[in-house]
Amino acid sequence: MENRKNWTRKEVLELYNKPLIELVFEAATVHRLHHDPLEVQVSTLLSIKTGGCPEDCGYCPQAARYHTDIAKNDLMSVQTVKAQALRARSSGSSRVCMGAAWRNVKEGEDFDQVLEMVRTVRDLNMEVCCTLGMITPDQARRLSEAGLYAYNHNLDTSEEHYKKVISTRGYQDRIETIGNARKAGLTVCSGGIVGMGESIEDRAAMLVTLSNLNPYPESVPINALVPVEGTPMEEQEQIPIWDMIRMVATTRIVLPTATVRLSAGRTEMTDEGQALCFMSGAGSIFAGDKLLTTPNPDINKDMKLFSTLGLVPQKAYKKGNKPEVNENYKNSNSEGRKVKWSRPAHDIDANIAATKSAKEKRKIEANS
Ligand code: SF4
Repeated sequence: MENRKNWTRKEVLELYNKPLIELVFEAATVHRLHHDPLEVQVSTLLSIKTGGCPEDCGYCPQAARYHTDIAKNDLMSVQTVKAQALRARSSGSSRVCMGAAWRNVKEGEDFDQVLEMVRTVRDLNMEVCCTLGMITPDQARRLSEAGLYAYNHNLDTSEEHYKKVISTRGYQDRIETIGNARKAGLTVCSGGIVGMGESIEDRAAMLVTLSNLNPYPESVPINALVPVEGTPMEEQEQIPIWDMIRMVATTRIVLPTATVRLSAGRTEMTDEGQALCFMSGAGSIFAGDKLLTTPNPDINKDMKLFSTLGLVPQKAYKKGNKPEVNENYKNSNSEGRKVKWSRPAHDIDANIAATKSAKEKRKIEANS
């Protein structure tokens, strides 16, 4: 099976639309060439700073402009992160992914605290990933020197469909952030969300863009949208499991060496549906009751499923070296290297309507 980079949208679509049985078989075959099919990496996602985000991502309950049930939380302490990481490690997680609801990383105490979190979790012999929004080359360098293993920045969807989901930042900025992480020696985690009203062509286009990143991401999360009340996508229908299986299998074939992460939306999937995703090349799940803010299966339920399927959790640093810590991470060189991130600010009707409705609900709450 060839490992190629020049996929066209038409070819990816042809793969996606194959008879499902053929697609799953082909994906399972590719998976076995590059991965141990019985190993699944278990990651724990920690929301280190929750809610109050200035962006308008149409799927996200953490956007301050929408009215959702999310409880806002300031940045977690390093001690809390360490305690949660230890708990995650004892239940089989080899990676901690720390997420902060920021548009981009700003220099200052909060970023310094995140750097200490990175070093602390890395010292527990766990892989550390961060998802903090857009980062400059110098911030990527400092994260890398603090011992960060991976940086997550999802493309979310195709460039065309992205414009219908988010108006406060541009697709090219996302690609630039991924490039900044890559140049700093970090591994890249980037994938998307299915079920946001995109076409199958959009799903294929996102995979083509990912496959053209040079090198392509080591890790590709595939999320199923979890529609949350108060967000512009609250009424979006849950996607059928068959779409998830097709997307996982197609990702597996297009990006053969990447770890495909079966991410948000697992609570809506049956064990049999998840088993078919593992068969089709999913090599990672997120553990813990919450995925940032959306529900996730209980770890005991996951471990029972692993036992039924004969799967085992993967050890840390199985696919890459543990990063060395370089004390330079404490030194910022960002002066004179400020990046001006774009803000397209086009109108997205659903986002405008959800913002308006949130304002009305807040007014009613204030008067009651
Ligand atoms: S997805 Fe991230 S950037 Fe977008 S609103 Fe949510 S927290 Fe903010």
